[in-house]
Amino acid sequence: MNNSMIHQPLTITSLIEHASRYHGQSEIVSVETSRVDNQPDVVRSNWRTVSDNSKKLASALGKLGVASGDRVATIAWNNRRHLELYFGVACGGMVCHTINPRLFPEQLIYIINHAKDKALFFDSTFVPLVAKLRDKLSTVENFVLMGPRDEDAAAQIEGLKFYDELLATADVNYQWPPLDENTPSSLCYTSGTTGNPKGVLFEHRTTVLHSMGGNQPDGLSISATDTVLPVVPMFHVNAWGVPYVAAAVGCKLVLPGPGLDGASLVNLIDNEKVSLALGVPTIWQGLLVALRESGSKVPSLKRTVVGGSALPPSMITDFRDNYDVDLIHAWGMTEMSPLGTMNQLLQKHAALSPDEQAELRLGQGRPPYGVEMRLVDDDGKILPTDGETQGSLQVRGHWIVDTYYLENKSALTKDGWFDTGDIATIDTDGYMIIRDRAKDIIKSGGEWISTVELENIAVAHPDVANAAVIAARHEKWDERPVLIVVPIDGKNPTEEQLLTFYSGKVAAWQVPDKVLFVESLPLGGTGKILKSELREQFANVLIEAAPA
Ligand code: AMP
Repeated sequence: MNNSMIHQPLTITSLIEHASRYHGQSEIVSVETSRVDNQPDVVRSNWRTVSDNSKKLASALGKLGVASGDRVATIAWNNRRHLELYFGVACGGMVCHTINPRLFPEQLIYIINHAKDKALFFDSTFVPLVAKLRDKLSTVENFVLMGPRDEDAAAQIEGLKFYDELLATADVNYQWPPLDENTPSSLCYTSGTTGNPKGVLFEHRTTVLHSMGGNQPDGLSISATDTVLPVVPMFHVNAWGVPYVAAAVGCKLVLPGPGLDGASLVNLIDNEKVSLALGVPTIWQGLLVALRESGSKVPSLKRTVVGGSALPPSMITDFRDNYDVDLIHAWGMTEMSPLGTMNQLLQKHAALSPDEQAELRLGQGRPPYGVEMRLVDDDGKILPTDGETQGSLQVRGHWIVDTYYLENKSALTKDGWFDTGDIATIDTDGYMIIRDRAKDIIKSGGEWISTVELENIAVAHPDVANAAVIAARHEKWDERPVLIVVPIDGKNPTEEQLLTFYSGKVAAWQVPDKVLFVESLPLGGTGKILKSELREQFANVLIEAAPA
């Protein structure tokens, strides 16, 4: 049968070709990692060069014997060579496996061997790390430093190759191979706070649909007129898909390299006139502190997108009132490529006061076209979306995992939904609020208590730098909340002061039973608090404390 319409596969190749052809001159600004003599710290490239270099890279990989379907790993910051790897590897028919350098060495060894990576590309920052791991990486045949020749690094890693030299060997007539749209394109492992990390293998089609669905006007809404700063790392779920979206719209891209502290970001935003920046809450906390110190008002910055963990309540109003920046809250996860929801208002909310609007926008938001959500109870029964009933959040859609990499069993429910592991409410307009992770929520005498809500109250106390709430075992109620607090330097809040701070903010039975003071909280590879570790340490404090 003849097709009635042209069928073009949805490939990442089509994104980079578009960027090269129609936005070839749009700038790619890259803060470099390697400080080689006479090389500027900031290098300016553009979409045409990224496209040309990606082709050269794909050609060079072929010459090294990396075949289609093979995994090519990266341990790198956000920079132009990493961007070229994103496109060169995927459009060359291979799989770009981005790795989080903050993982523990055993986890790095596990995932590189599990993925059977054939080549490993890394920034100069990670030369010592790779030198240490090298002998344990059984499948990697090519170690490539992302920069020019560097004798110092060559002395540390035998057989080391250099990115810039590889590109120089490339076939200048290389053409992209035709690809089926279901070809795998990139691979990310989940942070795996318990058990081994699991891989999510993204495909060309899912990546293109994620870029288009996620970038609608009520989503990321990035246009060719934007200058976009993805602070979210390219090793964290493909920088939330921003590199692909940026290619689709041809915007100017600013890649911040290794300097993610507030002061470096303020400079970069001001120098490059960034209009949209994206990152996790701790990054924006650092930026807000640096802004207060520097006095800059970042006039070019119009929007920031924040996600990855819960948003501190004052952040929206701080950005709005002091810098005229619209902060957009987003939620997602590795298994969702990652965009699941973004919080934008509806027409009917236009009449609300700015503070009412800010309150509504504290939640995680609504799904774009391409994602569906539902709530279920422990027996899998579908729950009402009334804004109050809490349940397990399940999702399905065009860019959501079915089966983890190399596992032979689908991760979905029998009727085809993915359980996110989050506990949420959804209101009648579809606005979702994450109440807790399923494994963190406190089940006190059959009632649920949200640890996130209790933490938000604690961090609003002027003497508290950071806080976590965990479920501690309790003889009568099964579990009760225990608050673990890192005080601000030089402050000594008492247990009584902190517990009194809860009065009027939550029901009396939800107030924590105990407060523990610590110097720091354990953090995982993506900067999230490791509650599993805290539970291991403190789960019995209420039982131990009870009189015999
Ligand atoms: P990851 O796959 O490492 O990105 O982690 C995904 C998990 O991070 C989600 O299941 C949520 O529990 C949490 N998360 C992501 N974004 C948010 C957000 N905006 N608010 C609260 N939790 C979030």
